[in-house]
Amino acid sequence: MLEIKNLHASVGEDEKKPILKGLDLVVPKGEVHAIMGPNGSGKSTLSYVLTGRDDYEITDGSISYDGEDLAELEADERAAKGLFLSFQYPVEIPGVPTLTFLKEALNAQRKARGEEEISAPDFMKFVREKAKVLNVSPDMLKRPLNVGFSGGEKKRLEILQAAVLEPRFLILDETDSGLDIDALKVVSDGVNSLRSPERGMLVITHYQRLLDHIAPDKVHVMSAGRIVASGGPELARELEAEGYDKYVRAA
Ligand code: ADP
Ligand code: MG
Ligand code: MG
Repeated sequence: MLEIKNLHASVGEDEKKPILKGLDLVVPKGEVHAIMGPNGSGKSTLSYVLTGRDDYEITDGSISYDGEDLAELEADERAAKGLFLSFQYPVEIPGVPTLTFLKEALNAQRKARGEEEISAPDFMKFVREKAKVLNVSPDMLKRPLNVGFSGGEKKRLEILQAAVLEPRFLILDETDSGLDIDALKVVSDGVNSLRSPERGMLVITHYQRLLDHIAPDKVHVMSAGRIVASGGPELARELEAEGYDKYVRAA
């Protein structure tokens, strides 16, 4: 589903700084892969390059997504094709009920696909089903987006948004701060509920504990802009016990 070969990419408005330096990664359909790695190794850069954010430029190598050359697609075309990056820092929007936000997000996606807007009753039915699976209370949906939400609630909503947009390929980029035990459980339960034979997922995280609950099909270690080791879930446990030193030195 996603096949990255020898990817080199730079970031910067004027002066381009090379960050990804020959990255190879294959995520088959239906699999969940995790990327771990020290701060500054380029994990977030990879997620921005994949989604086509401004100022991120592919300088060499290739990315194939569902058989298409990703570099040929604009960011909104990638989103329309189901490539979705979850938000690291959920925004607070006072005055905008969470439900309204979710409906707009869904309709924006439908519009990009040339589909009709979803009707209000259909949306309510659809979102209630998704919310139930993810334990989001009807009360939370009525409140303004993220305002006064706990860390766990924000995460729940982030996962709900992903569920509503039904991505073909989901990227979750978790920072190393702010995930309490409640939020960890929300993220892992959410990822597990979004697992599907038709969906690929990339989970970027510092937390071995998160991966305990997700049990990814593969774990990759990133260092200095490349994938330097790959293995099963045991690799995450080894990293937790021994740290990244050996991989950083090898890179
Ligand atoms: P990670 O997510 O693994 O912590 P990042 O992808 O955020 O790593 O960052 C990789 C490197 O790219 C870091 O050295 C960071 O300082 C640099 N970097 C990230 N964004 C920019 C930018 N907009 N301009 C210049 N350098 C950047
Ligand atoms: Mg970082
Ligand atoms: Mg990062």
